[in-house]
Amino acid sequence: YYNENTILYLNGEYLKATEAKTDLYGQSLHYGYAVFEGIRAYKTEKGEIRIFKAREHFDRLRRSCELIHIPYKFDNEALISAAYKVLELNNLEEAYIRPLVFCPPNMTLKAASEAHILICAWEWGAYLGEQLLRVMTSSFQRPNPNAFRIESKSAGLYVNSIMASQEAKQNGYDEALLLDMRGYVAEGPGANLFYEKHGKLYTPPPGHILPGITRATVIELCHELGIPLEEKLFTLEELRQAESVFYCGTAAEVIGWESLDGQSFSKPWAESLGKVLQQAYKARVLEREFKRKVA
Ligand code: PMP
Repeated sequence: YYNENTILYLNGEYLKATEAKTDLYGQSLHYGYAVFEGIRAYKTEKGEIRIFKAREHFDRLRRSCELIHIPYKFDNEALISAAYKVLELNNLEEAYIRPLVFCPPNMTLKAASEAHILICAWEWGAYLGEQLLRVMTSSFQRPNPNAFRIESKSAGLYVNSIMASQEAKQNGYDEALLLDMRGYVAEGPGANLFYEKHGKLYTPPPGHILPGITRATVIELCHELGIPLEEKLFTLEELRQAESVFYCGTAAEVIGWESLDGQSFSKPWAESLGKVLQQAYKARVLEREFKRKVA
């Protein structure tokens, strides 16, 4: 993620990653009381470096903080400029950008009255790889929305994601699928899910999931391309009857599934709506025109 030349942004300054410091008594380190974002920059078809949906991501960062009472006194336009500067200082074109809002020393469980901001970036290939995923239904559920602000992209929530991914990997799978506390299909440890059945796509509605920015982009693309889409709750049994399934997220982009708990899907990925959206998504982030081939 970094080396001796890496520059990061910390509270208004650009510093060497190896020299920047934080406090070991910070509330974020002890209680997971921090908020982060995951953003990607792309080199567009015209050769410009563009942070995809930068405003949406920084707006979510603000909202995530507000939801868990971390004060957010930052100016998002200035943070977006800082993110571009970090890319420039590190000679990065295509990169993953990680803003993190974290809290100063405090061992109490009182809400923070101040917060720090870090922005760093590194080159990161497709997070879940390029191969179709072999997915395992996790024994871990997504957190109960009555126990946490689950629409806040908070650091502490990610222990749940780590547990689920680790369990899947230990069992020889690529990735996990988590249900919500009611038993409906929710999402992956770091991605939202869509499935295809009879020419239509389905995805869980907001409420028990992180409403992903990539999910929103996929929904926009469905509208533009005339792909029917419905947000609805569904069970694992319904998902097993899907013709194809994919995950989507900033880090993972759009990635198809090979199987769920060892059972594969009836439609070849190459013929799926997911594949169309994978290409349309790539075109969107690269600001390239996309025309759907009519079969
Ligand atoms: N769900 C979870 C739990 C995630 O961590 C992520 C990644 N941020 C997503 C969904 C996808 O969100 P986005 O498309 O905004 O990256």
